[in-house]
Order: sequence, then structure tokens, then C-alpha cells
Amino acid sequence: MTKGTILGIFIFSFLSLVLVSCGGENAIDNNTEPTRTAGSHAEKPIEPKEPKEPINVVQEISISAIGDMLIHNSVYNDALVGSSYDFKPMLERVKPFLSDATISIANQETMIGGTELGLSSYPTFNSPTEVGDALKWAGVNVVSLANNHTLDRGEEAIQRAIEHWEAIDMMYTGSYKSEQDRDQLRIMETEEGISVAFLSYTYGTNGIPVPTGKDYLVNLIDQELMAAEISKAKEKADVVVLSLHFGNEYERLPNQQQKDLVQFLADKGVDVILGHHPHVLQPVDWVTGENGNRTLVIYSLGNFLSGQDEFYRQIGGIFKFHITKTMSDGETVVEVHTPEFLPTFVKYENWRDYEVIPMYQLTEEELTNASVHYEEIKEHMSRWVPELKFIEE
Ligand SMILES: [Zn+2]
Repeated sequence: MTKGTILGIFIFSFLSLVLVSCGGENAIDNNTEPTRTAGSHAEKPIEPKEPKEPINVVQEISISAIGDMLIHNSVYNDALVGSSYDFKPMLERVKPFLSDATISIANQETMIGGTELGLSSYPTFNSPTEVGDALKWAGVNVVSLANNHTLDRGEEAIQRAIEHWEAIDMMYTGSYKSEQDRDQLRIMETEEGISVAFLSYTYGTNGIPVPTGKDYLVNLIDQELMAAEISKAKEKADVVVLSLHFGNEYERLPNQQQKDLVQFLADKGVDVILGHHPHVLQPVDWVTGENGNRTLVIYSLGNFLSGQDEFYRQIGGIFKFHITKTMSDGETVVEVHTPEFLPTFVKYENWRDYEVIPMYQLTEEELTNASVHYEEIKEHMSRWVPELKFIEE
């Protein structure tokens, strides 16, 4: 991370320099070559001079988010190759849409405590560490771990999982190995000079009590705690993205409690809210906070990869949005904009050959009435945000 940060600062300074110098050259009246672009004469960085005009730097990044990685036994049995597991083929067709974003975040609903602890499925999950490897391979670089299944196999599964996340250099949030670990705010510093904080909370842990004195093992929804962490995150990062495990299972629209909590978080100035837990998709919306700020929310991202076999539970998606940071004359403006969505479908046959497929690519053979279902999902997701773009290439 330190290396990335230094590199980020370096590239950022370099880009600013190029932009400043190009601005200077553009100011020269050159009638002979009116179509020449700034990029074509940026071979040599010119010594920085005192800028005469206000510096205007615009940087942009994108973030993609996926819902529940809920690894049932049918899914991990299908991934078994020899004595280890390979989930990469299941994500092959969605990898291009995850790896093209600057940052990609997944909700890892089941802990990846690994085989040594003994794998398990519903109702108390423990998944192979290779799930993490496949996410990393597909382009994911942050995982949200505060879920109702976080404590399924106790502290040991969490500690083993975190050991693996650290080994593969995956940022994790919402479940921590110690008090000290939790106090370390998760902020991704991008090379573009935009910093993003990732927070994560769950409504509960399926009745499994949080071990005494170990609150750090899972972040529970607690308005006071959330408000404190949000204000800390807002101080240190350009954008605050908050993952929320909430809502009623299998309901396709948010309930009043979800809406109230989202309003509370919008009032606190959270920029983006990524909801999950219902296992089905719930729509996207813009919510206005008490200071006139706008919060982008997706109430539920649905299942991304699971063994659940009811139609709507096989549908999830990749939610994407863009962040622009404009610095002009000492003033910085950060804006979250252009939400996009790629609906996905978990295809399998006889509990084998699991594969996550972009819905727009589905053939009639892969899913009967594929295009009818796809249109219905698009309508459902954009009902409150008609301008929601759908990724189709
Ligand atoms: Zn859940």
C-alpha cells in the first residue's frame, strides 16, 4: 500500500505537471495546427513555472461492486480439482467487467476458513481459501466481511480467513483480527489521487453471540458507532463507501427500516451505500441527505455466486459508479456519478458447472425467455433512477 501511495503521488504530480504545461502550450496561438491535441506534444515534461492561470486538474476513477459470495457445498464440490479448489472458471465470463474498474468490492458472505478447519455449507458455512484467490484473480481488491454468517464457525474461521486475505494482499473491512486492526480505517489510495474509505456493518449474526470483549470480530449496525466511523472516514478520504448487510431475505423491494437507515447514513454524508442480504436484487436510488448532499444506494446486490436455486436468487449483478475529483484554484470538488449496472445470472445444471454469466449474453438455451427476464430485471433496477445505464459490452 505504501508503495502504491508513493507511486500514486508521483503519477499524480507528474500528470498535474503535464496538464499545467499543456495548458501553457495551448495558450499559444497556433493557427497552422488547430487540430493538434494536448496529448500529442507531451513528450518532455517542462520545468514547472509559476502558473499564470488557475490550475485545473480533473481525475476520475470507477468502482464496481458485487453481492453475496455464498459458497454452498454444491458450489465448492463443483470447484474441486484434485485436492484443491478452483473457482476461477465460475467467474471467467464476468472477470472483464470486474477487472476494468479502478477498485472492485465483493461481499464475502461466508468466511474462507479453509479446508484444515473442515468445509461446511448452510446453515453454518466455512469455505475454501481459493474463493479469495478467484476473487483476486477476477479483479476484486476489497472484501466486505460483516455478514450474518461471519460468526458461523467462530473466531477460528475468521482468523484463518483474515490470514489468507492478508497473504493475497486483499483489503478487508467489517471483520477484524484485533481491536488494533479495527481501528485502522480502510482507505484505498488510488494512483489517480482519489482516496476511498470502505466501511461495513451487518444487522446481526444469526443469533450467535459476539464473543465477550471481541466486538472487532464483526461490525454490527449501531448508529452511534457508524456515525463516529463515518466522520473519521470523511476527514481522511475523498469518498466514503459503506456496505450494509440488511433487509428481509427474498424481498425484491426495500422495507421501511432499510430506507430509514439509508436516510440516516445519507444525513451523515456517506457517498455510496452497497446493500446486501436479501439474496435478490433491490433497486438503485439517489437519496438526499440533510445537508443537500446526494447518496447513491443500491438496496440489494443479490447473490453473485451461490448454490441457491430459486430464479430471482440466481440473479445478481455488477454495480458500477464513477468518481470525479476536480481541483481548481485550491478548491477540490468530489462527485459520485453515472451509476451503471450489469445484471448477472448463476447458471448450473444438476448442481454442477456453476458459472456467473452477464444476462445480456444469455442465450435461450442457457435460460428460457432470457431476453424477457433481462428486460424485467432492467426495469426493476431502474424504477427510481431511470437514467441508470446498463452495461452491454
Ligand atoms: Zn446474509
